[in-house]
Amino acid sequence: MPYVQKTIEALKFSSPAQAEFYQAAEEVLHSLRPLFEREKKYLKHNIIERIVEPERQIFFRVCWVDDKGEVQVNKGYRIQFNSAVGPYKGGCRFHPSVRAGIIKFLGFEQIFKNSLTGLAIGGAKGGSNFDPKGKSDNEVMRFCQSFMNELYRHIGATIDVPAGDIGVGGREIGYLYGQYKKLTGHYEGVLTGKRLNWGGSLVRTEATGYGSVYFAEHMMKAAHNGLEGKVCTVSGSGNVAIYTIEKLQQLGAKPVTCSDSKGMIYDKEGIDLELLKNVKEVRRERLTEYAKERKSAVYTPVEKYPEGHNGVWTVPCDCAFPSATQNELNGKDADALLKNGCVCVSEGANMPSTPDAVEKFLAAKIGYGPGKAANAGGVSTSQLEMAQNASMQQWRFEEVDLKLQGIMRGIYKTAAETAKEFGEPHNLVLGANIAGFRKVADSMIEQGV
Ligand code: GLU
Repeated sequence: MPYVQKTIEALKFSSPAQAEFYQAAEEVLHSLRPLFEREKKYLKHNIIERIVEPERQIFFRVCWVDDKGEVQVNKGYRIQFNSAVGPYKGGCRFHPSVRAGIIKFLGFEQIFKNSLTGLAIGGAKGGSNFDPKGKSDNEVMRFCQSFMNELYRHIGATIDVPAGDIGVGGREIGYLYGQYKKLTGHYEGVLTGKRLNWGGSLVRTEATGYGSVYFAEHMMKAAHNGLEGKVCTVSGSGNVAIYTIEKLQQLGAKPVTCSDSKGMIYDKEGIDLELLKNVKEVRRERLTEYAKERKSAVYTPVEKYPEGHNGVWTVPCDCAFPSATQNELNGKDADALLKNGCVCVSEGANMPSTPDAVEKFLAAKIGYGPGKAANAGGVSTSQLEMAQNASMQQWRFEEVDLKLQGIMRGIYKTAAETAKEFGEPHNLVLGANIAGFRKVADSMIEQGV
């Protein structure tokens, strides 16, 4: 389709180093072809060219002083991508791999994810190449304060509401929020993922992981199957992975793996959740510590696997939950999963599967839940936090969890029904992209150029 190709070529020309962004844009635009063939209004209003261009990009310098008294400089980003359906919403990622292309791809995905939730939230993303790993609490605090010194002028409870992502949890949100209040004197819910004592929502911590498992339940049910008794592989060991493991265990499944950037754990007895939480959340240590304290666990360092090939996906399983980072599951991994009989993949991370892996899952017609649908529980519960803040209420755990379950059911239903409408009932990538896009594009048309 010439106009899709033309837009992608133009993107590559304007900023050649943004590989992840083109990957995301290409995937979305290509899967929208059947819609463009059916509905001419999107071309007439030049929506393709308009939607790949962020409304606003803020790049800034973040200077802070480390514990040795030395001045450090990091890069800060906030990309306010699209506000057609509501105020900008999306997390901030602090990780050394962060650069403009990563934030742009995440922001682009966030537009369609947020639209798909059915809630009135636009798409944004932010972050920094700052690495909280190995930094003292005071260093993290000083960095967050400096980051907010610039960001505060661009955000607001009804303008742009950042949250966490990789490297940004309750601790970081606390320092960011504290500084926002000092700078503005506004005590509003300008960030989500806050701790419970100061405006946070119950279930927000668990939401992305729980949501990804709820999504998997729907995919399994559609195949007349269930999660009970199923062996599951999970990658990552951050917030998403931990609460994926927790919900899987609650539903009677057996998660047997987790990983960090240095290696993976295979625990044939099933992951010891209490120990994992202690190592990662309380002690903030590496998974090698988990292996030391657990007899049934086997630790394999990443060097054991050829480049780009993740050991987690070689472990035989019924269901896989990529919950670490982008492009962590490639074509070879997909082959290994399919060969070992995996019937369901639910993405807790953003774009964890490479395009060839996605192709293989779709061709095999297994249950495949793309990140923008399967991991939308996090941002959905952020919106529930915003609603509680605006009405000065705090809802019970069960109440929020029920709402989350309802939202995940809605996302699955919308994606599955749209996939069916376009003649590919098993293709939730197509369904999620078209449904997410349609709402945003129609809103853009209705609001004029
Ligand atoms: N970082 C999460 C995501 O990728 C959550 C965003 C939010 O809560 O705003 O969707």
